[in-house]
Amino acid sequence: MSRFFSNKYRSLVPYTPGEQPTERKYIKLNTNESPFPPSDKAVAAAAEAARLLQLYPDPTCGELTAAVATLCGVQADEVLLTNGSDEILNFAFMAFCDDEHPAVFPDISYGFYKVFAELNGVPYRTVPLKDDLSIDPADYAAAGGTVFIANPNAPTGLALSPAEVEGILQANPNNVVVIDEAYVDFGAESCVSLVHKYDNLLVTQTFSKSRSMAGARLGFGVGCAALIQDLNTVKYSTNPYNINRMTMAAGLGVLADEAYTQANCRAVCATRTQTREALLQLGFEVAESKTNFLFARHRGFGGAELYAKLKENGILVRHFNQPRIQDYIRITIGSSQEMQVFVNTLRTILEEC
Ligand code: PMP
Repeated sequence: MSRFFSNKYRSLVPYTPGEQPTERKYIKLNTNESPFPPSDKAVAAAAEAARLLQLYPDPTCGELTAAVATLCGVQADEVLLTNGSDEILNFAFMAFCDDEHPAVFPDISYGFYKVFAELNGVPYRTVPLKDDLSIDPADYAAAGGTVFIANPNAPTGLALSPAEVEGILQANPNNVVVIDEAYVDFGAESCVSLVHKYDNLLVTQTFSKSRSMAGARLGFGVGCAALIQDLNTVKYSTNPYNINRMTMAAGLGVLADEAYTQANCRAVCATRTQTREALLQLGFEVAESKTNFLFARHRGFGGAELYAKLKENGILVRHFNQPRIQDYIRITIGSSQEMQVFVNTLRTILEEC
């Protein structure tokens, strides 16, 4: 730390992204990326857009906003596009949290929530998951702050139903409830249609997972026009050109290829079912996932040990050295070939020990 670092950030512990190694080729099952390349339409549109990189992009992101609004069945002024969904989550912490509206989120969830709260200097409170690692909606009745829930949750993979989310919205009429649907396209039900019923709901989604665009950084939020206006105030006060030209074009390209996205989601779900069954046969306890990853533990081995042995064998998974979940590993669903190699490698590791 330099002697110039602001007092505001001296105790900030930044988010630790999953490893992105360059020294060796791994089967990468650690950061919930898609195993499929982006749509050809996205790639072609991005290449074309690169010809105009001398010009700033459209700060309103007009065409893409309209396309996302159509996808979600809402109006354009109910949508805000951001640089990954991480950016809209940060905007939501900036816009909707303060001393009177502390952030409230599960103790085991997306690690960035705590970092965003600390970065923005807002108080936060965590709510323990149940013993089976599920969220009890009743725990969020009168939460007393701005609620952030990943649905499905990460890294557990478990989802709440829209009816359960509605219960949370109704119990918190004077607080914003942010539902982070980064993984919703892999079998959970979206709450986007509830934005016309609840003016305190913000739903966030991403192009990083089901749309194979993690490298382009594109996410968005959907909420009533007044919430989106607040978020726009934050956006225009930080980075008006938050979506670059190539990403904007790629986003339009992939939305014009919805069949490709749907087929990829179906493939991921089918491979997830096969991988889960194989893991159960190997003696793992595996949560019922509605995401593109599995969260699993084995009675005989700790999570850190499994992570290290898999890494030695050229496979990266994610391990969280965190109370309650240190026995687990989180495994992204790769291609079916990658998952076969994963299961075979794991079987060998278990046999050898
Ligand atoms: N929410 C959750 C629960 C996530 O796991 C992630 C990605 N790791 C994000 C949001 C952010 O994704 P992105 O910024 O790529 O849209």
